[in-house]
Amino acid sequence: MSILGRIMSKKDLVKNIEETRPPIVAVMGHVDHGKTTLLDYIRKANVAGREHGGITQHLGAYQVTTDEGNVITFLDTPGHAAFEGIRRRGGEVADIVILVVAANDGVMPQTKEAIKHIKNSGCSMIVAINKVDLADANIDHVKQQLAENDVLVESYGGDVVSVEISAKTGLGVPQLLEMIGLVSEMKELKSDPKAPVVAFCLESRLDKAGPLGSLLVKRGTLRQGMDINIGGSVGRIRAMRNERNEIVKEASPSQSVEITGFPQVPTAGTIFIEENGVLSNSEQIGALTVRHNSIEKQNVQDLFNYSKPDKLYPVILKADVAGSMEALLSNIPEREKIEIIDQGVGDVNDADILKARGTSTVIYAFNTGMNGEARRLARDEKVTVKEYKIIYKLFEDFEKDVEEYFTLAPTETISGRATILKVFAATTGTKIAGIKVTEGVIAVGATIRILREGKEIGKGKVLTAKKLKEDVARISAGQEGGVTTDLDFDIAEGDQVEYFKPIVK
Ligand code: GDP
Repeated sequence: MSILGRIMSKKDLVKNIEETRPPIVAVMGHVDHGKTTLLDYIRKANVAGREHGGITQHLGAYQVTTDEGNVITFLDTPGHAAFEGIRRRGGEVADIVILVVAANDGVMPQTKEAIKHIKNSGCSMIVAINKVDLADANIDHVKQQLAENDVLVESYGGDVVSVEISAKTGLGVPQLLEMIGLVSEMKELKSDPKAPVVAFCLESRLDKAGPLGSLLVKRGTLRQGMDINIGGSVGRIRAMRNERNEIVKEASPSQSVEITGFPQVPTAGTIFIEENGVLSNSEQIGALTVRHNSIEKQNVQDLFNYSKPDKLYPVILKADVAGSMEALLSNIPEREKIEIIDQGVGDVNDADILKARGTSTVIYAFNTGMNGEARRLARDEKVTVKEYKIIYKLFEDFEKDVEEYFTLAPTETISGRATILKVFAATTGTKIAGIKVTEGVIAVGATIRILREGKEIGKGKVLTAKKLKEDVARISAGQEGGVTTDLDFDIAEGDQVEYFKPIVK
């Protein structure tokens, strides 16, 4: 029999978590200490002898059931981009963090960083001393080093649970799972499946089928058909799939599902909350709550008024193998602010440099080489190539670079878009247009830019706005109206309008 029990069927799960919800468990620790191996082992141990297929990896989380019948949700991305994003936004996604420390290597810089993070977050910690199968494993040394870092395991008189494991052979993994069960029992994790939904976006990507994203439910129940609002664009949950690629109609607390039907690619690390039956993406959940309390009856669209950077940070990504590229793509921070000009496996070469030449494109290379010719070309063409051996470091720098790019460069953000439906005769210097707002809000006083087939043809200002015959201050997404503008050039049906406002820092 497999070490782990079978994955629970959906029906069992719903019954089980009416009050108690499964713990959400993250794995942290120094690079190469075995986080991925551990997550892989647990995932695979659940596949043996199962009717249904294996657990897919692109959801960002998966659920298993232990022999004791405990359901556990594992965050499947040891690379911590989504995790970090969520933490920064004040919502803590994990309940328990497993700190993986290799017994032959001991406490290392990222172990210390992880300890700091776990302590700040209020999550419970379980130490997994890994690689105990190795001849040079020194378990006592690890425990002593942990004590020096204020992590006192039970055998050192403390209360931190520690388990000795080999993620490679599976030794000790059942005990680790048992400990997760015990710790979560002590935490008495509860969630109301009937409450309005709070869910975290763990992964997202653009697929042939449209934008895809996986949401991990923290509270409430996600249902097929629910409306989703991202910055004023509205979609609805068309289909949901679980980690075994099965279609499900509902997802309860601690379950993660991949969703189709988003109006645009959601940002990994953001929180979705349900209000009046609509699931909205909030980049600023704190601010939002305050505003909701103080502003009554204000158009919900306005509250979710979304600022998309006018310009995206252009990058080329290179990695040694497809797996690393996948890790890069799925964990790269600030995904919504970047434009991936190109991506590829293999050394940085001349073609990459030529693609970046003359633009502000930066090349990020993970674990790859770069030949002399490409290096010379990069120098001559003033193309920045950043090379990394440690993915964490790449992500850290990347985040800083993006921030810097947007601090130095743009002064505008787009806060709405519209399409011109009809152009009316107008006096010189003033144009009147019938528009349909497709995103955000178009307001009186706004600076607008007119695009034709994607190219800018000019800028101007909105002078007045009307809905039906009434003067209004703004027209929101989904609505039609008329605007007068000071545009002094010809506009035509089908032109696109973008409305700007300065970035508020
Ligand atoms: P991560 O960077 O923390 O995700 O580390 P990985 O899971 O990629 O593991 C790094 C290396 O250590 C890989 O070559 C694994 O095969 C190896 N490894 C992981 N766990 C064990 C273990 O328990 N025993 C042994 N001998 N090797 C392990």
